[in-house]
Amino acid sequence: MRPSPTCWLPSLYRLSLGLVLLGWPLQADESGTRTALRVDPKRLRERIDRMAQIGGSTQGVTRLAFTEADLRGRAYVTRLMQEAGLEVRVDEAGNLSGLLQGGSPALAPIVLGSHTDTVPRAGVYDGVLGVMAAIECVQVLGENGIRTRHPLEVLVFANEEGGLTGSRALSGRLNSQALEESSRSGMSIREGIAALGGNAERISRVIRRPGEVKAYLELHIEQGGSLESEGTDIGIVEGFVGIRWWDVTVRGSANHAGTTPMHARRDALLAAARLVIAVNRAATSLPGRQVATVGRISAEPGAPNVIPGRVTLSLELRDLAKPKLDQVFREIRRQARLIGQETKTEIEFTEIDIGVEPTLTDPKLQEVIRQAAEALDLSYARMPSGAAHDAQNMAHVAPSALIFVPSVGGISHSPEEYTRPRDVANGANLLLQTLIRLDRQDSP
Ligand SMILES: [Zn+2]
Repeated sequence: MRPSPTCWLPSLYRLSLGLVLLGWPLQADESGTRTALRVDPKRLRERIDRMAQIGGSTQGVTRLAFTEADLRGRAYVTRLMQEAGLEVRVDEAGNLSGLLQGGSPALAPIVLGSHTDTVPRAGVYDGVLGVMAAIECVQVLGENGIRTRHPLEVLVFANEEGGLTGSRALSGRLNSQALEESSRSGMSIREGIAALGGNAERISRVIRRPGEVKAYLELHIEQGGSLESEGTDIGIVEGFVGIRWWDVTVRGSANHAGTTPMHARRDALLAAARLVIAVNRAATSLPGRQVATVGRISAEPGAPNVIPGRVTLSLELRDLAKPKLDQVFREIRRQARLIGQETKTEIEFTEIDIGVEPTLTDPKLQEVIRQAAEALDLSYARMPSGAAHDAQNMAHVAPSALIFVPSVGGISHSPEEYTRPRDVANGANLLLQTLIRLDRQDSP
């Protein structure tokens, strides 16, 4: 008969005690300890839930930037940062910054960040996940007596949802005109920055020069449904899509809907309808993730008994690669010429410069994230980000990366927004392990 497992416990205990007395743990491989480090998923979830109560109601979470709810959220985050050992300050742009000195103070900091402001009636995870996971990483390192070589900085960017104010300021991309714009709080951006404890008069002081940040890492929910639908744990963001907009005008001829025979019509709305289908085909006929949208259309004169003589519509294209945007637009224009000939209408495209160029994340950082994901046994996919994030601005001053975790149903900016606890923990552990790997390198 085999002895029961409990019989072995006393001797195992004596053996391990002996090893401790011999100083064995001191010789344990320190990098092994770091690789085995994990976040506390329960604590992380509790903090995210606690944050949801600030500005939260049955209608969702509303912490509009610069408002009292935003300030209360930041006060809670400040307490958590201090608890994790971070030295907290508000910079001139109103960003909340928590700094922990590293073992080699001459090295540039590794920055982890996201935002805690929301849109009206928002969900719980957008922005907050990245901030709480960043604080958790710092706290877990401290609790395990691990000091990184690089200083660590946690950044909570000001007014992300109202125009990425804080990260634009840090990357030197916030012009003085933007400061006078109004925000959803009712205050101008300039007044809002002051409400957070910043000072727009001296905002240029926050600009980080190349080399001043070793790397910027952000964890965020996907806000789309592709990770969830494909059963993938992690999205490694390759970049932020460029966006191009056009006003499209279709000119036909307005005429009596009862007396003009079908063959004699120059129906601008009929041409526009065919153009909408052509836009969709142009985007779907090419391989890749490019998207094309007609989101607005209006017909004139707009009466049931008049053939539309003029139609205006919007066209929007998004992709990571500039040549792909050109290629899709060329195809749409070619189709528009054919539609114009067949419907006896004229179709004109006028581009509106909105200045959103494709921005790529750092390929070497992507590779570090990929290796960390493999070591954690997490499945991953490389993907573009269709939404704007602070990482997009940070990519202009430092090697930057963005990690996505699945959003259930692809829903965000809604009280229905949900990310499963398992995915929250996966994302935070990946952030931690990426940070640990990065800290060993002298250059990313
Ligand atoms: Zn966000």
